[in-house]
Amino acid sequence: MTQASKVRVRFAPSPTGFLHIGGARTALFNYLYAKKHQGSFILRIEDTDRERSTPEAVEAILDGLTWLGLNWDEGPFFQTERQSLYQKELERLLESGKAYRCYCSPQELDQMRESLKAQGKKPMYDGRCKHRKDAPSDQAFVIRFAVPEGQTRIEDLVKGPIDIAHREIEDLVIARSDGTPTYNFVVVVDDHEMRMTHVIRGDDHLANTPKQILLGEALDYDLPQYAHLPLILGKDKTRLSKRHGATAVQMYRDQGYFPHSIINFLARLGWSHKDQEIFSLEELIEKFDLDAVGTSPGVFNEEKLLWLNQHYIKDKPYKEVIEGLGAFIEIRPDQIDDPKSHRTIEVLRDRAKTLKELAELAAFHFSDQITPDPELKKKLYTDEVKDAYQDLILEIENNSFEEADLEKSFSQVLKTHGLKFPQLGKLVRLALAGGPFGPGVFELFEIVGKERSIQRLRALIG
Ligand code: GLU
Repeated sequence: MTQASKVRVRFAPSPTGFLHIGGARTALFNYLYAKKHQGSFILRIEDTDRERSTPEAVEAILDGLTWLGLNWDEGPFFQTERQSLYQKELERLLESGKAYRCYCSPQELDQMRESLKAQGKKPMYDGRCKHRKDAPSDQAFVIRFAVPEGQTRIEDLVKGPIDIAHREIEDLVIARSDGTPTYNFVVVVDDHEMRMTHVIRGDDHLANTPKQILLGEALDYDLPQYAHLPLILGKDKTRLSKRHGATAVQMYRDQGYFPHSIINFLARLGWSHKDQEIFSLEELIEKFDLDAVGTSPGVFNEEKLLWLNQHYIKDKPYKEVIEGLGAFIEIRPDQIDDPKSHRTIEVLRDRAKTLKELAELAAFHFSDQITPDPELKKKLYTDEVKDAYQDLILEIENNSFEEADLEKSFSQVLKTHGLKFPQLGKLVRLALAGGPFGPGVFELFEIVGKERSIQRLRALIG
């Protein structure tokens, strides 16, 4: 591939809220496409709508992308810092006669639309200022793009060719009355100036594409190729929105998902490779291509995401699991490589679907304080076992903590009170681990240690 055709793609969010599932999917597909073709992935913050853009949203987007590992090669570029470039290009269009000043007042525009509607026509701007020769200095104006006659074909890399007749497109406003350029205009200038080869974005932008192509042609730019990704729907088959619950990527982080679970999940929202569901990042980069992006909407299925996360909890290397757990439970540096930590995670990872759940289960090892399940205590600490349990504590206190001695203490107490192992074993497990889980009872003693074990055995009945 020559230098000139090196792939350059971008993620261009408007910073008006969190990084949501749809935005993250767009970012991922751009990222994968760039990596696959040894290209560049550029981050551009589209903050020209100053009323809706906030610095918190910028932070949230950068933070979300970083957490997902979608590292960008260039940027972030902020459109608010690029105004002089846009002004220069606006001037160029005005001078060439491909854009014009429109002095129509809002009332006049309303009337025009109403009367067109009354005639059964599409309420579009009728171009009345296009041939206006005067330039009244005391009147506010917007700048409109003079849409030429004809028709345009979008060769969409996902949807195939789409033809649009220009009479369907009105002379759009490209600069507001305060002089600020509008979205469709700045995107075209930026995509050219940043040398984008492909524009990969959600198909909610499809209606903008012919406008952007025409603007690019009017400015004599080389045009990028377009690829519009299918919509993402909720399970009820309506467009994914906040109504469907957690749609912000950060909410999944807070619930204990691995970033890679999200990546794997997002990749399958609109793209597929045979019937494979589990992909490493390397595999995604290798296998991803726009040809295999479908046209039918992806359905956001939270259970599938949870299933993926559960898979990764079981499957990820210890190091990644313990790192992930660190967000939910305090882990001392000396605990990281401790074989007891390895063992704790190994015996518990099958039981947890999220890192948060795993942290709760593993608290018996990593934390000093645990809260045994009170319901289970009621069930297990019956009159039949009370005396035996208290005897067992005394035995353990007064003997060595070697496994063989612990076993001896156990069998002696069981024998004296005529009980079976589970009757005391379950109770001890509850006291030491907090619930009906964990390794075998004697291994549990070893992991928790003598002092903490005695303290917990006592605390259960204290
Ligand atoms: N800023 C637009 C958005 O957040 C994306 C524009 C584009 O990708 O062209 O929806």
